[in-house]
Amino acid sequence: MITKETIQEIFDTARVEEVVGDFVNLKKRGVNYIGLCPFHNEKTPSFTVSPAKGIYKCFGCGKGGNSVNFVMEHEHYSYPEALKFLADKYNIEIEEEEQSPEQLEQLNEQESLYHVSAFAQKYFSELLFENEEGRAIGLSYLKERDFNEETIKTFQLGYCLDTWEDFTAHALKNAYNLEFLEKSGLTIVKEDKKYDRFRGRVMFPIHNLTGKVIGFGGRILSSDKSKAKYVNSPESEIYNKSRSLYGIYFARNEIVKKDSCFLVEGYTDVISLYQAGIRNVVASSGTSLTAEQVKLIKRYTPNITILYDGDEAGLKASFRGIDMILEQGMNVKIVLFPEGEDPDSYVRNHRTAEAEEFIDKQARDFISFKTDLLSKDAVGDPIKKANVVKEIVRTIANIPDGIYRNFYVKECSNILDVPEQTLMNELNKILRENFRKKFRQEESPEVAETTDYSSEEQIAVDPSDTSFQEKEVIRLLLNYGAEEVIFEKKNDKGRMEEVPVKVAEFIVHDLLQDEIEFQNPIYQQIFNEFVAFYEKGEIPEQKNFISYEDEKVAEVAVNLISEPYELSSNWEKHKIYVKTEKDILKNAISSCVLSFKARKVDNLILETQQKIRETRDEEELKELLQSQVNLKKVSIEINRQLSRIITK
Ligand SMILES: [Zn+2]
Repeated sequence: MITKETIQEIFDTARVEEVVGDFVNLKKRGVNYIGLCPFHNEKTPSFTVSPAKGIYKCFGCGKGGNSVNFVMEHEHYSYPEALKFLADKYNIEIEEEEQSPEQLEQLNEQESLYHVSAFAQKYFSELLFENEEGRAIGLSYLKERDFNEETIKTFQLGYCLDTWEDFTAHALKNAYNLEFLEKSGLTIVKEDKKYDRFRGRVMFPIHNLTGKVIGFGGRILSSDKSKAKYVNSPESEIYNKSRSLYGIYFARNEIVKKDSCFLVEGYTDVISLYQAGIRNVVASSGTSLTAEQVKLIKRYTPNITILYDGDEAGLKASFRGIDMILEQGMNVKIVLFPEGEDPDSYVRNHRTAEAEEFIDKQARDFISFKTDLLSKDAVGDPIKKANVVKEIVRTIANIPDGIYRNFYVKECSNILDVPEQTLMNELNKILRENFRKKFRQEESPEVAETTDYSSEEQIAVDPSDTSFQEKEVIRLLLNYGAEEVIFEKKNDKGRMEEVPVKVAEFIVHDLLQDEIEFQNPIYQQIFNEFVAFYEKGEIPEQKNFISYEDEKVAEVAVNLISEPYELSSNWEKHKIYVKTEKDILKNAISSCVLSFKARKVDNLILETQQKIRETRDEEELKELLQSQVNLKKVSIEINRQLSRIITK
């Protein structure tokens, strides 16, 4: 658990424009910054960052929040992960509360799995360097591959002893739970036997974006053919294979810097290239490349280069997978290695500069490359050639951007020696088909979603629903709480006097007086916070809510803070013309509070009517009828006041 003090320090230090600026190209626009939203596709920027408020907000897709929310949303981090990420960025030391064995037990499954994985990694690394078997088998293998000690330590490589349950026994002795040992896949439990999954293997920990170990790959060194060369951890709460990339934690900064990502096959390719100083490199671990993995890379760069070490036949088999990368709007290049070489051996046998030059020179645009390769096979065979044309056009159709598509049509028309128009016609046919397929999917009822977005501004139809009024009250509190408005009051001498009142004071006082409560618990929580400050004679600042402990409160606050403009537009809508900002505000708060109360009273009236229908008690009926009369009087009075504001 990160201490409260540390969390506060992170919130105080992390400037939203800096945090967002690391991922989004921001331009200054007045007091705010503006850029293209990273959460939805757009051509004109509707993504705004307000340094003063400490928040970002997209007016296109509605996403908004503080700097921690941004990191969570953008990097798919959990709350603690996002805090750690920011602490790291700003060199803030994280104070964590010590955990007792009881607390350890309370940690949820994810945390437990992280714990046991980190524990295993440390133990395996220890064995690699300090255990006789570890040194003789594990370490000597890694040295043979020319991995130096620094590299081995960076990637936290290790060794698992070739015994049935050395690791499992060691973990149990250290109070780790068998349940999580099994869930992490480190231990296999069969009937009443338990044993180590990775026995006798060199261990390659797989890290998530924040550098935590989420799983392992284990390579066997004996030549026993009955055993798989590599074994991987099974999927768990923390290890989703299709979303993980081996090496991403070490590569991400470099990928951004180079604006390019190399994709290789194996763990050792990643490590060798890294050691050689080529660090923008990742591998898909334990699966063939997935769309999610491509999206992960796309967060950092749109340029991907596949370093391929197989033969042409193997490459052809993976064409479909590469089409999927194009579908994500990425630019794909491909590098073929000379026979018998792979990225790992190449950097070991060449100097880094040579390897870099080789990659640079060999890198070919994937579509041209594919066209070339396929058309070679089709020389002199018109039917084959027609199929190649179809295949290539289908690949081009995967590219989301029309300009790129047209570019490739030109290029391939040259390579294939087929008129551009022929390719274009075929392309349009496929695009239409794809569109129709997609359209049909969207038509189906289970896919069609109604967003509550457009309906948000409509006043609730259900008469007992006060959510619209509650929201307006909270919106005014959050946005204008500290502003002053002038009310006229009679003084002791019966003369009218102008009294300045803060918006928050007015609203809090007024609602407290009538003991008005909110139906929405989050609004109530925000209101309570205002009450607590009000009682100290203060008004809470916006940043209090934006970095509020309870994330739900923070989210609601951010949304309300970023839409303060309805104030005036609402008034215009009702054809009410007012002179100054302060007049608008004064009218807004008065009418807002009154509308809220009016709704509340209407509710009470409805409730009373219900009770009147149900009661069998003469005495109670009398009371109910009396209170109904009173409520109606109140209702009339409120509505009279309301109409006075509006027609003034
Ligand atoms: Zn957006």
